[in-house]
Amino acid sequence: MSHISELVVLSCLIMICYRKFNLIFNLKETFNKQQDETFMRLALEEAGLAFAENEVPVGAILVDQNGEVLAKTHNQRESAADPTAHAEILALRIGAIRRHEWRLEDATLYVTKEPCVMCAGAMINSRLKRVVFGCKDIKGGAANSLYHILSDPRMNHRVEVTAGIFEDEGRKILQDFFIARRSLKNQKKRL
Ligand SMILES: [Zn+2]
Repeated sequence: MSHISELVVLSCLIMICYRKFNLIFNLKETFNKQQDETFMRLALEEAGLAFAENEVPVGAILVDQNGEVLAKTHNQRESAADPTAHAEILALRIGAIRRHEWRLEDATLYVTKEPCVMCAGAMINSRLKRVVFGCKDIKGGAANSLYHILSDPRMNHRVEVTAGIFEDEGRKILQDFFIARRSLKNQKKRL
């Protein structure tokens, strides 16, 4: 075989390998996105429960590396009269208690709204692997809006961040809640 033929065969082999690699990579990405959407749907259901309980509607789902759900929680700040009872904190607590282990190094937390400073801190302290959130919180988000705590190289642990899964739904439930609350307050004023 001439050098040119060898080069052509080698190029073809490289192209086939590249395409196969890309196909596998794309399939994996599609699978991950589907999985993210499945768990974010559950987190939105939890946000709906919070809404029904007159709590700011934020829901969270904690999942281990095998896709097993470790915790399903929603914001309970009002009912628990606890400033730390955000959905994310409750999920991390339940997950750690279930495992008898404070490290959650393989776990992913799905939450309908960008985590605040307190929750981002708790995620670092639990050595969480990844957080997936829905809508941004421009005024108080600590993942990539107001602060970048989860990716700050000065911290002793970094958490992978995926933003924008069911972003519109996560935002809409919050907007609906605050509109309903304002209208209730106005009604009370008129009485
Ligand atoms: Zn929080």
